[in-house]
Amino acid sequence: MSRTPFIAGNWKMHGTIAEAEQLVQALLPRVAAAPCDIAVCVPFTALQAVVDSVRGSGVAVYAQNMHHAEKGAFTGEVSAAMLGELDVDGVVLGHSERRQLFGETDKALQLKVPAALDAGLEVILCVGETEDERENGDTERRLRHQVQEGLEKVPAERLGDVVIAYEPIWAIGTGNVATPEQAQDALAFVRALVADRDKEQAERTRILYGGSVKADNAAELLALPDCDGALVGGASLDAEQFAAIVDAAPQR
Ligand code: PEP
Repeated sequence: MSRTPFIAGNWKMHGTIAEAEQLVQALLPRVAAAPCDIAVCVPFTALQAVVDSVRGSGVAVYAQNMHHAEKGAFTGEVSAAMLGELDVDGVVLGHSERRQLFGETDKALQLKVPAALDAGLEVILCVGETEDERENGDTERRLRHQVQEGLEKVPAERLGDVVIAYEPIWAIGTGNVATPEQAQDALAFVRALVADRDKEQAERTRILYGGSVKADNAAELLALPDCDGALVGGASLDAEQFAAIVDAAPQR
């Protein structure tokens, strides 16, 4: 089955509204003819402005987190319905920075992933091992736990709707990109984990690589058989770099 490549830029906590608009205006003309799916993952405060700026362009807008509940006494949190009200297309869930710095657990993700899908949001679920886990031969155990927990409450027929980003934590923001062999092994392993639930859906599932993707290493990673795109952090803040990564996506 052919899967449309998907390049998503995670802006993290970067960008005032004015800066976000500037970045998106620089990006849109550079990706207008792209044959792949593109998303920008934007800080909450700039979501509305970016949604308005990209309208009609085909570029999707994602938030970087949400709460699983529809509403309630959860100070500082934002629900899927609130994101939907802004016409946001999707949400990144379980990014390693949320897991490591803000205590995001696999149990919380078990609730967030189906809540986002039920609300009509697309989901990028992030998984990945630490440097210690890789060195100790624990990569597969870690990925198995994260993928199985994150997808546990997703009905089988919706598994293929969840995009999974494999992001080795040691590669995020470090310049230490995974080798093509390391990336392909992990991406294929993640697909096999989805196939344990449903083989057909695993063929639909788009699995992205994330971790120090730049214009000069993107083509090699994006050509891997189980790589359906990239989640890009630092390089997504530069319209030219991000567009070059989009250009490196193979036509499938
Ligand atoms: C990320 O934030 O998901 C990421 C992969 O960052 P970077 O591309 O900067 O390593």
